[in-house]
Amino acid sequence: MQCEQYDVAVVGGGPAGATAAHELAERGLAVLLLDREGRIKPCGGAVPPILLREFDVPESALKCKVTSARMVAPSSAEVDMDIGGFVGMVDRETFDPWLRRRAAEAGASLVVGNFEALQRDDDGNLSIRYAPDRHSSHSGESSVTARVSCVVGADGANSRVRKQAFGSALKFKHVFAYHEIVRSPAGRTEKFDPARCDVYYQGEVSPDFYGWVFPHGEHTSVGAGSAVKGFSLRKAVKRMRDRSGLADSDVVRCEGAPLPLKPIRRWDNGRDVVVIGDAAGAVAPSSGEGIYYAMTSGRLAADAVAEFLETGEASALRQVRKRFMKQHRMVFFILGIMQHFWYSSDKRREKFVDICRDEDVQKLTWQAYMNKKLVRAKPATHVRIFLKDLAHLVGLNP
Ligand SMILES: Cc1cc2nc3c(=O)[nH]c(=O)nc-3n(C[C@H](O)[C@H](O)[C@H](O)COP(=O)(O)OP(=O)(O)OC[C@H]3O[C@@H](n4cnc5c(N)ncnc54)[C@H](O)[C@@H]3O)c2cc1C
Repeated sequence: MQCEQYDVAVVGGGPAGATAAHELAERGLAVLLLDREGRIKPCGGAVPPILLREFDVPESALKCKVTSARMVAPSSAEVDMDIGGFVGMVDRETFDPWLRRRAAEAGASLVVGNFEALQRDDDGNLSIRYAPDRHSSHSGESSVTARVSCVVGADGANSRVRKQAFGSALKFKHVFAYHEIVRSPAGRTEKFDPARCDVYYQGEVSPDFYGWVFPHGEHTSVGAGSAVKGFSLRKAVKRMRDRSGLADSDVVRCEGAPLPLKPIRRWDNGRDVVVIGDAAGAVAPSSGEGIYYAMTSGRLAADAVAEFLETGEASALRQVRKRFMKQHRMVFFILGIMQHFWYSSDKRREKFVDICRDEDVQKLTWQAYMNKKLVRAKPATHVRIFLKDLAHLVGLNP
């Protein structure tokens, strides 16, 4: 069996792992970036503009920019919202390999292979075992061991690293999300607009989450999520395709995956392993937005791992979750309440969509999404919206 040595192994080369590997390699550390590749991540691909700025991603990585959103209520009432900027749409088939390439160009050793196990020798030294892809430079070897000082688990919602480091007892809240990638109409039609995303708040589309139609240039993602066992996401997608004039569009792919909805309680093992991105549940409740948060956790992991390698202090790894939650706790808390309350019945969904008619609600929502900051400029507006929300909550509004 072949044995290699690195400072750190990053398992998983999605947005979280590729970002961590890129930033660790830029510091001159010996980084193994292990990704099994071969499967395009099922994803709606919506990203906020701040992601481009913060992570130096060029606009050419976007398939298109969406500038308006249509909210669809259970009664079929529609509210069109001007985003006042844009939502970028990335295609994970090209975006993830681009991120991995960037990490490799910065010096990370990008290896295609399947992570199998965390291992320790008698002295407690850490290594990982993986099965290299048969087309990789390791071909012929069935298993490779890499000795490392630290492991970053960025291997997605079903993370093997997480299960091995923490066991499966750790609570992992998620919905299952399914989407169909279909060919977009040649241009704007009566029911479809290539610059508009449609969001369905209907119990028939999802009893506990929502459904979406996200245009990506030549393709469109039509999907929905739910944690309710037995609920047919395929029927939900069919309903949205019918309504969006996409019933007869060619289907490019049908795929699904778990979508975490809450950061797990701990991200590090107190010693030398830390999980990030979906593996850590770093996804916004209610919206299911995960790409930006995965990259943010990747950056925080790079800072913490570099500190850990320099000082040998395992407590440095605890900072990843701590710093992440410091930045995003408030938004995650609000979105968590929102999901719990507004997604619980059609009556409430109807009211929720109705609230979205308010121009100030629109502005605050989209500014918060695009810039990942709660806008503080208009405190009176916050109070008014809060009171309006409260009135709905206690049933004072019709
Ligand atoms: C249907 C759907 C729609 C979504 N839509 C959006 C959206 O519009 N906008 C948004 O922001 N978020 C969306 N999300 C969430 C988003 O996709 C995730 O939050 C994000 O991809 C998390 O990035 P990550 O790097 O943590 O994990 P992932 O993107 O899952 O990457 C994990 C990586 O690990 C690799 N890997 C896994 N196991 C192993 C192994 N054993 N060995 C080696 N490598 C391994 C995989 O190949 C993969 O590259 C959606 C999710 C789903 C399921």
